[in-house]
Amino acid sequence: MIWVLIMLKYHRGQCHEYYKFNGCLDRYVSTFPRNPKEAQATMRKGRRCSSSKAFLEPIRHRSNLKVTKYSTVNKILINPDTKTAYGVEFTKHNKRIQVLALREVILSAGVYRIGTIVDGIWNWTKKAFIRTASPVSAVSYMAGRGPLTLPGGAVGLAFARSSLASDDHSATRPDIELVMGGGSLAGDLLGILRSLLGVTDQWYWKVYGSLPLNVRQNSFSINPVLIRPRSVGRLKLRTANFTDPPIIHMNYFHDPKDLKALVHGIRLTQQVIGTSAFQRYATRLHTTPFPGCEKLQFDSDQYWECAIEQTSITLDHQVGTCKMAAVDDKTGVVSPRLLVHNIRGLRVADASIMPRIPAAHTHAPVVMIAEKAADIIKEDWGMRSNSIYD
Ligand SMILES: Cc1cc2nc3c(=O)[nH]c(=O)nc-3n(C[C@H](O)[C@H](O)[C@H](O)COP(=O)(O)OP(=O)(O)OC[C@H]3O[C@@H](n4cnc5c(N)ncnc54)[C@H](O)[C@@H]3O)c2cc1C
Repeated sequence: MIWVLIMLKYHRGQCHEYYKFNGCLDRYVSTFPRNPKEAQATMRKGRRCSSSKAFLEPIRHRSNLKVTKYSTVNKILINPDTKTAYGVEFTKHNKRIQVLALREVILSAGVYRIGTIVDGIWNWTKKAFIRTASPVSAVSYMAGRGPLTLPGGAVGLAFARSSLASDDHSATRPDIELVMGGGSLAGDLLGILRSLLGVTDQWYWKVYGSLPLNVRQNSFSINPVLIRPRSVGRLKLRTANFTDPPIIHMNYFHDPKDLKALVHGIRLTQQVIGTSAFQRYATRLHTTPFPGCEKLQFDSDQYWECAIEQTSITLDHQVGTCKMAAVDDKTGVVSPRLLVHNIRGLRVADASIMPRIPAAHTHAPVVMIAEKAADIIKEDWGMRSNSIYD
């Protein structure tokens, strides 16, 4: 994702020119919704609705469910003779506890233990957001209404296919997403977004310092996202001790086509802001060159390639560390039934099983994997499935 800042002159009015959300139009698969509330996000009544809230909370009183907090799994117990997983060992308040599985062990520990970071960041930004909101907005938010209930980071989405996507398996699959943020980095007056993204104050003031405060506040961003990267990273265990952080080689832009596809995303963004719908608000691109790229001609492809290399960030949609593949594929870990190859009684159900990054944000596909896993497990143990296909 690269930050392309767009300035918006404040103007009250209705936008009538829009494309149908989730509809097909020319090469766009889906485009900006007329009403930001139509954007699909993991929210309920204007608040974030996590997987825990949606799936665990409603069933937490079930007698066959036990959730243990403050518990870190140290190892999966595997019988070396039969190669069968039979339980897990975890630490809770410095105590080692073993639980034995009646049937099987299901591992959902994420691609590399990132979930705790997600929650931490959310709680922090939520508090800061409410502190800076007007009292009216804050009260409306409590009632599930008002501007604070919008999915601020993604009030509009568009999917498109760049000319570089032509070597993809599919003739229609998009490779670029445009995510429109209700605010922008320039409007980050308290420095919250800056510190999340690792942007220094020096960089911020150099790029946006010349803009008056009200202009920075009335700015928004459209972020081109590469949703079909060709570059593939690597994750290696540092030691056999799971508490040692793994070695991660992200390998961003290893394939030069990735950079070129993102430049295409910027060109697409420029087309979007040139439409009469956006021009009604006197939308314009912020033209201060990014530090490190000042010597290149602004708006040339070379300039944008430099800007992408200087400022792009990840959306943390990593997948594939326990890839689903055939048993003779040395890079594969699980079967189509999510069972770990060559070990009995061990299944993986999380983002790590995806062989490729889906052309979507990964949370919803992970929920789909979990739903499918539930059906598969019930089928494999001869239980009735609640699948809609029954
Ligand atoms: C900052 C950030 C923002 C993101 N924003 C979005 C977004 O807006 N939309 C979107 O679709 N996706 C987003 N993603 C990606 C999305 O969150 C992940 O793809 C998704 O959470 C992966 O689900 P998972 O179940 O595979 O792993 P996780 O959600 O990481 O869950 C794994 C869980 O296992 C726990 N765990 C790991 N190891 C152990 C252990 N040894 N013992 C006990 N527990 C353990 C972890 O604490 C964690 O709770 C974001 C990710 C990040 C990091």
